[in-house]
Amino acid sequence: MDENEYKKMLDDAREQLPDTSSNDERFEMPILKVIIIGNKTEIVNFSSAAKHIRRNEKILLKYMSKELATFGELGGGKATFVGKFGTIVINDKFKKYVNSFVLCKECGKPDTHMEKSGRQEILKCEACGARRPIDKC
Ligand SMILES: [Zn+2]
Repeated sequence: MDENEYKKMLDDAREQLPDTSSNDERFEMPILKVIIIGNKTEIVNFSSAAKHIRRNEKILLKYMSKELATFGELGGGKATFVGKFGTIVINDKFKKYVNSFVLCKECGKPDTHMEKSGRQEILKCEACGARRPIDKC
């Protein structure tokens, strides 16, 4: 079964369910599109991906730069990193960020924001109200 057939099957299954709430839709992780140009790596949909997970693109850039141990900059909706990094590596780091700093561990939803509680950063879920401490990124 190819991916499209699988998606269609999911859509069909969803249509047969009673419409309880559109909020129940599973979070779809954006896939970062990576292009290597010379000795640099561009993520062409960086800003829209940051928007999708409702995080500041500068903070995401800082995290990615640290994880990739290189210099990165923003411009025109893209992020450019010094060095060559493959799609898998880039998306791996991104996934790690989303799992650590975006998704609620309790209900799995991405409707979260960060709060400060003293010196500790807290990830608060707007969907279920769960809170968990997170490391600074
Ligand atoms: Zn939650």
